[in-house]
Amino acid sequence: MIGVAVLGSTGSVGASTLDVLARHPERFRLVAIAAHRNAARLAQQVIEWQPAYAALADERAAHELAALVGGRAPHTRLLAGPGALEEIASLAEVDCVMAAIVGAAGLRSTLAAARAGKRLLLANKESMVMAGPLLLQAVRSAGATLLPIDSEHNAIFQCLPPSARPGEATPGLKRVLLTASGGPFRELPGEALASVTPEAACAHPNWVMGRKISVDSATLMNKGLELIEACLLFGLTPSQVQILVHPQSIVHSLVEYVDGSVLAQLSAPDMRTPIAHALAWPERIDSGVQFLDLLKVGRLDFQPPDYQRFRCLTLAQAAARAGGLQPVLLNAANEVAVQAFLERRLNFPGIAAVIEAVVERGAGGAIGALEDVLAVDAEGRQRAFERIGGITRSESVRGAHA
Ligand code: NDP
Repeated sequence: MIGVAVLGSTGSVGASTLDVLARHPERFRLVAIAAHRNAARLAQQVIEWQPAYAALADERAAHELAALVGGRAPHTRLLAGPGALEEIASLAEVDCVMAAIVGAAGLRSTLAAARAGKRLLLANKESMVMAGPLLLQAVRSAGATLLPIDSEHNAIFQCLPPSARPGEATPGLKRVLLTASGGPFRELPGEALASVTPEAACAHPNWVMGRKISVDSATLMNKGLELIEACLLFGLTPSQVQILVHPQSIVHSLVEYVDGSVLAQLSAPDMRTPIAHALAWPERIDSGVQFLDLLKVGRLDFQPPDYQRFRCLTLAQAAARAGGLQPVLLNAANEVAVQAFLERRLNFPGIAAVIEAVVERGAGGAIGALEDVLAVDAEGRQRAFERIGGITRSESVRGAHA
């Protein structure tokens, strides 16, 4: 039995992970679940799964959780506070950690899982964007296994030879073709972007996801973060990554080799495929996903991204080229700007404008220690907050320090 902890169990990736686990009770045991403050959802999961541990980062919500669970999970230890997530990620009974917290808030627990030498299923791309070198170093020195969950990176991983190592270039690999759906505004004229609503931005044509990543998909910042993630995970330079808009979201990414071969991974757009792949790797298990009927799909289209309308992608490419602490600044500004857009304090084009204003002053320097990352994260949030002209000090300003 493989002991699994799901960090971010109340979210979209978390729910898909529990769905896959439920199909294989003989193989996996859910040891721990954790989230931020959704006590009602976590209480349901605790009662259904009876895990050994459950945690909420928000202490007040954790009291609510205890009241909601009552005596219905007598063997579950309820934990509270951000430190509880790191504790869960390092538990001896846990072999495998699904890191599915959204944003910089997932950084410490993701690092804790790597340092504890776990099989780390990485959905929380922001932790790789912010602290990739530290995370990869922790994976190497603790002997952890890093498996990407982002469908594109999981696809690339599936197209690499078994000898590939995290963070290292693969001999014979020429470049990677990273696919993007283009998001809900792929065909919207530039002038119409100023009036799009958070609801429209979150209505992704192919994927059902959390609100932050949905907005990132609409601005194409998601692809920008994925570009940075791909460079770090697979030892690539930004010029080795070509971004292709592929509206059907069937080809999840491709790898081109020096002999002219191009390998691709295809599947229905459902996160349970990469989740099942990473849970069972190197074996294969049923994921519950509908099998692909290419005759029904009919055609697969590819187009270049529109860098004029989707400025976030250009900003992310520049941060990828700059490297060091620059992606930390980009990520921090993006999180604050997306939150402001979701709260209707900023319009859609304002997201890129805020990020641009924050990153143009630069972060300076390479990543030395976690403290450097946290300091630049805080600085980026503060700059973004000031730029937006903060009405109320939003939660998102706290970021990785939460
Ligand atoms: P959701 O918004 O659906 O869920 C986020 C989860 O993170 C929730 O469980 C939430 O808890 C928890 N969380 C948020 N803030 C904190 C915090 N401060 N401390 C502890 N837990 C916290 O996000 P998604 O599932 O969509 O995305 C999760 C991650 O996976 C993101 O990094 C995203 O980029 C990545 N990803 C997602 C994909 C998808 O299809 N959804 C695809 C590829 C990558 P609570 O409910 O209590 O607020």
